[in-house]
Amino acid sequence: MVTGQQPAKRLVILGATGSIGQSTASVIEDSGDYCVEAVVGGSDVAALAKMAVRLGARHAVIHDATGYHALREALAGHEITVAAGPQAVLEAAVMPCDLVVGAIVGTAGVPPTYAALQAGRTIALANKECMVCAGEIFMRSAKAHGAVILPLDSEHNAIFQALNGWDASQIENMTITASGGPFRTWTKEAIGNARPEQALAHPNWSMGRKVSIDSAGLMNKGLELIEAHHLFAIPPERLQVLVHPQSIVHGLVSYGDGSVVAVLAAPDMRTPIAHCLAYPHRRDARTARLDLAQVGALTFERPDLDKFPALGLAIAAMKAGQGLPTVLNAANEVAVNAYLSGYIGFADIARIVEGACDQALRDGTANSPQSIADALAVDHITRERLHPLLAGGR
Ligand code: NAD
Ligand code: MG
Repeated sequence: MVTGQQPAKRLVILGATGSIGQSTASVIEDSGDYCVEAVVGGSDVAALAKMAVRLGARHAVIHDATGYHALREALAGHEITVAAGPQAVLEAAVMPCDLVVGAIVGTAGVPPTYAALQAGRTIALANKECMVCAGEIFMRSAKAHGAVILPLDSEHNAIFQALNGWDASQIENMTITASGGPFRTWTKEAIGNARPEQALAHPNWSMGRKVSIDSAGLMNKGLELIEAHHLFAIPPERLQVLVHPQSIVHGLVSYGDGSVVAVLAAPDMRTPIAHCLAYPHRRDARTARLDLAQVGALTFERPDLDKFPALGLAIAAMKAGQGLPTVLNAANEVAVNAYLSGYIGFADIARIVEGACDQALRDGTANSPQSIADALAVDHITRERLHPLLAGGR
């Protein structure tokens, strides 16, 4: 179905069953301007089958190879082809299309997103871990293959809009905002003892489990700084974080004449998703509308690096560069999983990340990865070292 002058855009959705995947589906359904070539999911067969039918996808691909028969069965009678396993995910990522939505969580998203990049695709990128694990390599490869990365993360999408075609050399600095998460007003001690259900209760956004935990410790903001550093080629010293509990102003660009261009929107991921899907056009979308009179007041404060050490660690890794963000990203993913499994406390997440970064600096693991294979090897070594954590040991 096509509305307006443009032909329907063909989409491949990586991570179609997650929180971003669901929001993307909602934008697609409301609009009728898109057709879905493929939906890709991790291991939840029922959710993927449901999404494939909901969006009328041509292909459904599940990463977990053992899900193949169940997915076939679930989609019997539908004209949807089915494939499974890591290779099938890579093949889905390079299927001919106009836009790939990169919404897998964690380093698992790196190989397929990178494959799409090498195929010269336009990618609406939610999977920030790609940029933290291998940002330089991603940006270099995008340039070499004529691929375009559209920032889907709300802060980066706001910056992208506020830049309006200008680049980092023409601006003074950029600021991304953070809600402050569920622990903004808690004491350091209380945060350290927080239980997973408390950390998952984000005040403004409903998101996947990993990004929710990342947000509670402000690691998410650290990952986003690294993401912005690469996406917009801006040096770390001109990048800032401002805590803004209302989550209305998402990103600000300060120009040399004193002007500050900010992008505001109600906290609804469907807004940046709708922007990326329609880009370079604007299409109406049924997203939450901003009513500033109802919001009343917008407040801002500096982040507290003592209460939220993960943010400081990410800033240090961004400044150190080389493979340190790769190590930080891998260690964080392992630690978040261990925390969600009840093996470690909340304060241990930052402690473990710090230990992994220190060790990598000492033994040379943090040398500059030159290729995706190098970055994934650094990621792998870091995970192996922390493996005992996932078995419940410290
Ligand atoms: P989620 O956990 O809800 O969903 C993750 C998706 O990835 C699921 O579809 C899952 O099946 C899929 N997946 C996991 N492992 C896979 C694998 N090996 N192969 C293929 N698919 C796999 O996560 P989310 O909240 O949707 O976040 C996705 C990404 O977007 C994250 O990087 C997150 O930081 C980023 N992001 C999320 C939000 C948000 O509001 N949720 C906002 C900004 C950025
Ligand atoms: Mg964000």
